[in-house]
Amino acid sequence: MIRSINPATGAEIARYEFNTAGEVDAALSAAVAAQARWREVPITERVRLLTRMAQVLRSNADRYARLITQEMGKPLAESIAEIEKCAWNCDFYAEKAPEFLADEPVASSASESLIAYDPLGVVLAIMPWNYPFWQFFRFAAPALAAGNGSVLKHANNVPACALACEEVLREAQAPAGLVRTLLIDAGDVAALIADERIAAVTLTGSTEVGAIVASQAGKALKKQVLELGGSDPFIVLADADVEQAAAMAVKARYVNVGQSCVNAKRFIVEQSVADRFADAFVAGVAGLKVGDPMEMDTRIGPMARANLRDTLHDQVERSITAGATLRCGGALANGPGFYYPPTVLDNVTPAAAAFTEETFGPVAAIIRAGDAEEAIRLANQSEYGLGAALWTRDLDLARRLTRRIEAGAVFVNGMVASDPRLPFGGIKRSGYGRELGYHGIREFTNVKTVWIG
Ligand code: NDP
Repeated sequence: MIRSINPATGAEIARYEFNTAGEVDAALSAAVAAQARWREVPITERVRLLTRMAQVLRSNADRYARLITQEMGKPLAESIAEIEKCAWNCDFYAEKAPEFLADEPVASSASESLIAYDPLGVVLAIMPWNYPFWQFFRFAAPALAAGNGSVLKHANNVPACALACEEVLREAQAPAGLVRTLLIDAGDVAALIADERIAAVTLTGSTEVGAIVASQAGKALKKQVLELGGSDPFIVLADADVEQAAAMAVKARYVNVGQSCVNAKRFIVEQSVADRFADAFVAGVAGLKVGDPMEMDTRIGPMARANLRDTLHDQVERSITAGATLRCGGALANGPGFYYPPTVLDNVTPAAAAFTEETFGPVAAIIRAGDAEEAIRLANQSEYGLGAALWTRDLDLARRLTRRIEAGAVFVNGMVASDPRLPFGGIKRSGYGRELGYHGIREFTNVKTVWIG
């Protein structure tokens, strides 16, 4: 039994039965059969499905956005933006997929040789609750355009969103069975990964689950893309526009109530401007409206689940014990729902949990660095390597430093955000493989050499 809980109140919204083993088996066989036909459809026709998906998403944006907010607590304005971003991604690949996957002639000893991009088959998508539509459609739009099918095992705190993802495909007239949502327990995923009808696996989630899925997929020798946790640095050098950096830092940390893999989490600031930055940042945080996520001007709603909030509070308490200074927040809220106040920790050092662990919620860690060299060293002193932001007016220096930062993306004088046109993914314990851009669509393809003598 899956229970959907409204995190703003703690009240149960609905209950869902798990799929039976027979239903899962039938869904896998149907997906394989549908994919075998789908791969024969020319890509110029396949992408029409993506255009229809974008239309379905846009025409139901309000209803889908409310589902997101009800099930995981994201402020409604951000839920609406999430649906629009899914539609944008579908439109982007509808336009670009034929170009990204076109045959590429290559000169060789053959009279004709080329690279072709064939689909892999049915991809198992294991997805998290934090962007319950985006995480799925970020993967699905390019994967389907490339000729693959998919079965989705979504996070079990967002079952209505999981079923709505499948509904979008149905309403867009996807071939029957090509994409299926399975309501199953996480413990049943291992058998799916091992099943010969699954060709590959994509996971967005925690580093811990990433290691489990990677070992299972590795044992079965199946291709994986892993998009895992992050503890992104937001580096502010002494010559930066400190006020602008602080304003952007508030958004970079608190969007999605701090529950994003690419939220800035560690604010590494050169000592000479650290007080100015910290004061402006704390003032910005004080202006965030905390409240009912269904209200359009709310910026901070509840966290998605009680246990996530408890983990975060424990990280805050351990960080204070390790010497961090509490600038605001830090106390568990009374009342219903899984609210946690926007919290700022200053004087954080590598001894603190807020430095070494991923903090997945509205908690910022300010770290003071002696100079730019120390700032880069601290930024790289992490097991994660997803995104990074760097603030400086010296763009020549910035270009040099971007190459030394250990991350899958570096944004200069901005905040890290995914964009369908640019690849997205991490290094180190943030995972491997790329989504989005032309790298993303090629992940679930067989890069096939064709040689004609
Ligand atoms: P999980 O990594 O546990 O969940 C992500 C997905 O993996 C869900 O669909 C989950 O299903 C599934 N899953 C869980 N255990 C297994 C397993 N053994 N085998 C296969 N699939 C599994 O994340 P949580 O929701 O528990 O969040 C915990 C932490 O993970 C967060 O605090 C954050 O640090 C990180 N996280 C990172 C995300 C990112 O965007 N990179 C997104 C979400 C979380 P089920 O819901 O049924 O458990």
